Amino acid sequence: MNILDIIAKKRDNKELTTDEINYFVEEYVKNNITDYQAAALVMAVYINGMNDREITDLTLAMAKSGDILDLSELGDVVDKHSTGGVGDKITLILMPLVASLGIPVAKMSGRCLGITGGTIDKLESIPGYNTSIDINTFMENVKRIGISLMGQTLNLAPADKKLYALRDTISCTSSIPLIASSIMSKKIAAGANKIVIDVTCGSGAFMKNREQAEKLAEIMTKIGELANRKTVCIITDMDQPVGYAVGNILEVVEAVDILKGKYMPEDVEEIITKLGANMLILAEKANDFEQGKEMILENIRNGKAYQKLVELVQNQGGDISYLEDTDKFEKAKYIVPIVAKEDGTLTRLDAFTIGKMSGYLGAGRMKKEDNINPRVGFVFKNKVGDKVKIGDVIGYIHSDDEVKANEIKENQDIYKIG
Ligand code: URA
Repeated sequence: MNILDIIAKKRDNKELTTDEINYFVEEYVKNNITDYQAAALVMAVYINGMNDREITDLTLAMAKSGDILDLSELGDVVDKHSTGGVGDKITLILMPLVASLGIPVAKMSGRCLGITGGTIDKLESIPGYNTSIDINTFMENVKRIGISLMGQTLNLAPADKKLYALRDTISCTSSIPLIASSIMSKKIAAGANKIVIDVTCGSGAFMKNREQAEKLAEIMTKIGELANRKTVCIITDMDQPVGYAVGNILEVVEAVDILKGKYMPEDVEEIITKLGANMLILAEKANDFEQGKEMILENIRNGKAYQKLVELVQNQGGDISYLEDTDKFEKAKYIVPIVAKEDGTLTRLDAFTIGKMSGYLGAGRMKKEDNINPRVGFVFKNKVGDKVKIGDVIGYIHSDDEVKANEIKENQDIYKIG
């Protein structure tokens, strides 16, 4: 077997065998296949696609390329994953919530890349929070307090790490077979036997329309079944940012306020109840969606979910006084309003542009090595569908750079009034 024949086969739109896929993944991880050969194969997959069997083989080969965690001693762990988005602070809200309802949470999260935010960067904006604990501490935490959230420090799915970085440099990120295998290989390696996936759909997501999102959801559910991991995919809107805040500290503050019951954006309620109820059903703690939804909302009302967040942060070295008084968080130097230029209805608050601008302010990273600025981003006052009047403040830009803030303020692509 050799890589040239494998590339030629996919280039000519033929089906790869299980052995060929295993060979490619194993040899690429060992550096016996070069990046330019892997790039050629990835591009051929991007253009010609893969059938369900090939995608499952690729997923399993990538999952087996590194460590596979065994979480069985923790009980019925239900993992949650999002295909990524803008203002997506759902993990910060939902994981303490389900932990407060007795589902063990043993979650490894990622950092932001491109316009997509990452939970680990958000958690690290809480002073002291340690995301790089070792695996024994991680397991002990889950046993003791029911929850631990850490970064991906283990050698989980190294083939995905290499392929994901490669895809990023050759414009091959938004391919259904490549996204499905990337996500599911990491989920399988991370050890949960039940998985709920938030498949985001819209301008700020990989999947730009419903048809693509349904296809991705269908294939990930199928891979889960074949790999013996019960998987439920929920499609959620990513045309506008989730909630009101975008940016690391700003999103932590919003998540804390939501868990304290101060307010609840409609879209956040819809996402946490849909994902949460399905997690409770998978863990056999709720019989149906309505019961699961009520359990989720009740643990926000009674403060148990917020208390679980406090326990999580304290247990991982974070300073909980920042949760108790979120005014303690550092603020950006300039807070500049975005003002409506006409009367009407807000018809667009474009997640893609807002994600890009938030990266430009310093909230995201374009390369893995980039540092992020936890203070910057946006806090909106409105959502799509709201009526606004000329002169109303639609939201605020939080920036350490006045010139950038003034430039963004005039960006016509951020919102539309119809
Ligand atoms: N998230 C992932 O982990 N991989 C992808 O390819 C896309 C989103």
